[in-house]
Amino acid sequence: MSVGNQGDPGNCPNPIDAAVLADYWLAALAKSEEEAVEEHLLGCDGCGARLTEVIALAGGVRNLARKGCLRMVVSEAFLKRAAEDGLRVREYAPPPGGGVECTVTADDDILIGRLAVSLSGASRVDLCFCDERGLEQFRLPDIPVQDGASSVVYQESITFAKAAPTTTMIVRLVTFDEAGSERMLGEYTFHHTRSLPGPGAW
Ligand SMILES: [Zn+2]
Repeated sequence: MSVGNQGDPGNCPNPIDAAVLADYWLAALAKSEEEAVEEHLLGCDGCGARLTEVIALAGGVRNLARKGCLRMVVSEAFLKRAAEDGLRVREYAPPPGGGVECTVTADDDILIGRLAVSLSGASRVDLCFCDERGLEQFRLPDIPVQDGASSVVYQESITFAKAAPTTTMIVRLVTFDEAGSERMLGEYTFHHTRSLPGPGAW
């Protein structure tokens, strides 16, 4: 057995991608993936050392995520950590095909949309953001999903939400069939009412 540099991915026949290590640290991986990474790290010093580097890099991202500044899909573990950190989490859970009245207050740290959905058989899932007419504005492609999970937990950027005017946003979860055609898994409408004073209030 040769002794290489600590942290040299060359030591590892199958090094874990840095992005996956970062997601692991952010607790953003699906549970099965998280367990696979955990198991790999137990037996691989090279990837363990790389994780340390990623943690240093991801520290900034993690702080942003923890502060609720990023629009991203999060795990139950992330929410648990946030609550343990004393952050105030505001959560809305519109039914599939339905809508919910929502807002955000100055005291909220994290804003969560819990999208109930059946994900069985869906390998790639995109989260699409649309205006009130249903016109897609942008999407988060290939979001982390947990096999057998009954919901996708989506964190809206609290910075964005606090600045947003009263508005309606439609969120869609879509997957793809074998031919690559898009198939809708669920559609959710957020009727956001601004309750904070400021430039966006009218
Ligand atoms: Zn490795």
